[in-house]
Order: sequence, then structure tokens, then C-alpha cells
Amino acid sequence: MVLADLGKRINTAVNSALSNSQDDYTTTVDVMLKSIVTALLESDVNIKLVFALRNNIRTSLLDSKSRSIDNAQTKKLIQKTVFDELCKLVDGETEPYVPKKRKQNVIMFVGLQGSGKTTSCTKLAVYYSKRGFKTGLVCADTFRAGAFDQLKQNAIKARIPFYGSYTETDPVKVAQEGVAKFKKEKFEVIIVDTSGRHRQEEELFQEMVEISQVVKPNQTIMVLDASIGQAAEQQSKAFKDSSDFGAIILTKMDSHAKGGGAISAVAATKTPIIFIGTGEHVHDFEKFSPKSFVSKLLG
Ligand code: GDP
Repeated sequence: MVLADLGKRINTAVNSALSNSQDDYTTTVDVMLKSIVTALLESDVNIKLVFALRNNIRTSLLDSKSRSIDNAQTKKLIQKTVFDELCKLVDGETEPYVPKKRKQNVIMFVGLQGSGKTTSCTKLAVYYSKRGFKTGLVCADTFRAGAFDQLKQNAIKARIPFYGSYTETDPVKVAQEGVAKFKKEKFEVIIVDTSGRHRQEEELFQEMVEISQVVKPNQTIMVLDASIGQAAEQQSKAFKDSSDFGAIILTKMDSHAKGGGAISAVAATKTPIIFIGTGEHVHDFEKFSPKSFVSKLLG
């Protein structure tokens, strides 16, 4: 991740403002905020969020009792305010669904092709399987040639039971049959992988709605490639409108993602990130914590 660059840049902005401190406290704060705004925008955080954040930080600093820019305490206050405001942004406003033992929990995945959906399905299946849930995988991607083979190979390697079809072309039917089979066999976590295709075509969203209607998921998860940058806001809003996902998995956090896109996606949909993908291997998967994400973001 190159996220740490943002932290370095914010620290530089703070240090430079402190050392070139103007007589006027407000001017010093504004000069510093200008550099922070630039650093956030260049990290792909959405412009509206950046300005809202800027205003919140400004209000906090101007309201603070010390109102002096030249001591270590002020520096700490600035860093804490930036940290807290960023945490608020990545902390979705709703609580994610948590699968329950001895219940049949259906989890449906949505996201664009290449985002890391199939990989993340297996990672999540392994996560729950390791915690004692009887877990199965359903491949409802009949659009991409090789999708079933990919899920099958992942599932065999991870020893997770799977369901799919080489002949059935209707993804809704495959999803329905797969979920019904696993339900009959008393599986506790049933994960449904769907097609992603490349563009946000109308049919893709229609297909997601239809699959959702037959499998009736307890949770829908959108998979988002962390390196998507500014496109994250619009993409996640489009998926939210059609699939009303309740959680996000952020993938490729090991890549050169700047991370700002992720912040924008959470803020635009008010939906929490639950896990992050940190590599191609099935165990490269971590529970998401806003504080540790922002700590990394700030370096
Ligand atoms: P799908 O089309 O959305 O199902 O995406 P895939 O699961 O096939 O993943 C697309 C590519 O991204 C594959 O080469 C995966 O190995 C890779 N990938 C998925 N998640 C991660 C991740 O967290 N980190 C890295 N570096 N690669 C990932």
C-alpha cells in the first residue's frame, strides 16, 4: 500500500505550519489545512468528503482552548482530529450481519468482474469453516467462461463443498438449486458467487435482483478493488441501488491502492467494510478495523 504517503504528507504539512507559524492562529491553521486537503485529494478521497473533513477539522481547531500553534500539544491535537475524522468516515453507520450457528445463513456476493469476488468468496468460506460453520460455495456466474472451474479449483484446494453447472446457462436457476441443495444438507453458511462482467450493464443489475429474490440472502456483500480510486463512489452507489448490499470487502490492499476510494465508497453508501484482502492466497484476509486502516493510511 502507498497509503502511508498520506500520513507523511499530513505530518509535513503540520510540521511546516508549526515552524513557519504566522502571528495569526487562524491563518496558520488555514495554510496547514490547504496542504492536508491536497494530500487527501491526491489519495483519491472524494472532493466533497475532503471539504467536509476540512471544515470539521477547522472547527475543532478554532474551537480548541489552546489556540496556539507552537507547542507539541497542538500538534497532537491536530493529528488526533485528522485521525478521528478519518475514522468516522470509514466507520459505516450500520452494523454488519453476523452469521449465527445452527441457522442457515445465505451470503450473496456482488461486484465487478476482476474485483476479486471469486477469490474473496473462498476466503470467506474458509474463514467461517475454520470457525466451525458448515460452509458451502455456489457458483452462479454462468456468464464468464471458466468461472465455475475457478471456483471449483479454489474450493477443492480449500476443502469447501461447492455447487455449479457446466450446462445450465441461467444463473438464477443455478443459484436457486445450489442454495436449496445446501439448505437441505443443513449447511450453516452458504456463499453465492455471482457474475461481474466488465461494465455496469443494466442486465447485470437485473440478474443480481433476480438471484437475490430467489436465494433471499441474509447478507449481500459488495467486493471492491481498493485500487479503483475515484470511481469507487459512483460504482458502489450503482451497486447499492440495485443490490442494497450490507457490507463491503475491500480487495488488493497489498497493491498500490491509495485507499481514498475505499473511504469514499463507505461514505457514499454508509455501509461498513468487514474484511480486507491482502493477497492472492486464501489466508490473505483480515477483519477490517477502522482504526488500524486509518493508522496505516496515516503511516
Ligand atoms: P472476480 O472476477 O471478481 O471473481 O475476481 P477474481 O477473484 O478472479 O480475482 C481477480 C484477480 O485478482 C485474480 O488474479 C486474483 O488472484 C486477484 N486477487 C483477488 N483478491 C486479491 C487481493 O486481495 N490481493 C491481490 N494482490 N490480488 C487479489
